[in-house]
Amino acid sequence: MSAEPAAVPPSGAAAPPAAPDPLGLLALLTEALDHTNQGVVVCDDQGRVLLRNAQCARLLSAHSGDVLAANALEAALARALSGQDHAEVLDLYSPTRHTLDLRAYPLGERSRPTGAVALVDDVTELRRLEAVRRDFVANLSHELKTPLGALSLLAETLDGEDDPEVVSRLTARLGSEARRFSRLVDDLLDLSRIEAGGTGTLVPVRLAGVVDEAVEGFGDTAAARGITLHISPVESGIWVAANRRDLASAIANLVDNAIKYSEPGGSVTVKAEQHDHLACIEVSDQGIGVPKRDQERIFERFYRVDRARSRWTGGTGLGLAIVRHVAAYHGGDVTLTSAEGQGSTFTIRLPLSAGGADNG
Ligand code: ADP
Repeated sequence: MSAEPAAVPPSGAAAPPAAPDPLGLLALLTEALDHTNQGVVVCDDQGRVLLRNAQCARLLSAHSGDVLAANALEAALARALSGQDHAEVLDLYSPTRHTLDLRAYPLGERSRPTGAVALVDDVTELRRLEAVRRDFVANLSHELKTPLGALSLLAETLDGEDDPEVVSRLTARLGSEARRFSRLVDDLLDLSRIEAGGTGTLVPVRLAGVVDEAVEGFGDTAAARGITLHISPVESGIWVAANRRDLASAIANLVDNAIKYSEPGGSVTVKAEQHDHLACIEVSDQGIGVPKRDQERIFERFYRVDRARSRWTGGTGLGLAIVRHVAAYHGGDVTLTSAEGQGSTFTIRLPLSAGGADNG
């Protein structure tokens, strides 16, 4: 093959079978392989293409500016025709960043192959997901190690301490670190349940009832921090299709954040209204706000603007990721408008539903 690799057509070009196909078997096989997601090219011992499916043409022509892919395919087939397996990962940058996994194998006897097959996979999304998973594991290890480190340090300090005042202070801190750890595990379990779509069916619920449930108990928390909490009455005719528990906990997360990231003397307002065909649940504060550059990233798992403040307030860094997933699986979204030092408004928008039997 090494003499004739040019028989493999350039990317995107039609590939007329080199060998006669009186029974139409190659055409049939090519059509069958058009139904796979993998690009497949088969050539004879002279490197002439016998079969090339549509996905192969698509994968290579998606990078028509990139002769690299076509050349790599030719070289891979040539290597397979010399009796060796070939595997490589191609990072292409034209027109967008893409990663192709290219493999080629000899057909027939290895010492004298009668042909070769090349397989091409687009692994761009797989690579991206692997990177997300690696980042998540690295972040998670760090997030778990911090409270664990604090717990073991506190336990060591407590050991042998007999001043009752110090013992009681350290015990209280041990308790609060343990609660933080348990919140982190709860949030992780919630997130994985919601991400896996294991959320149960959505049923019509009255929005007013969900908001009541979500804000319950926050009056005291806000008052303890010198913050006024306003809950606007919600019109009773607004219904949404929801998992009541998840939606209430998403709203509660936003209220909790609004209080956490406000200074004493500030106020937090919760409103739920109908706008056109959407139910809009708005949680506003006059707190520290979110810098423009962080506004999209704060919905990522474990992303915080100010790590120290989040730790001090006992945050897990997962709240907004959960809110975003809950909004998404309800067919809606969550948006943010914020100005640093002036405050933030988080809005969950959901499609309306017809009324049901809910009496909450
Ligand atoms: P955390 O547990 O750290 O609060 P979240 O996922 O709930 O985690 O929020 C992520 C980050 O977004 C927070 O650490 C904080 O920096 C920022 N944030 C969230 N809500 C607000 C808010 N109302 N005002 C200002 N910053 C906020």
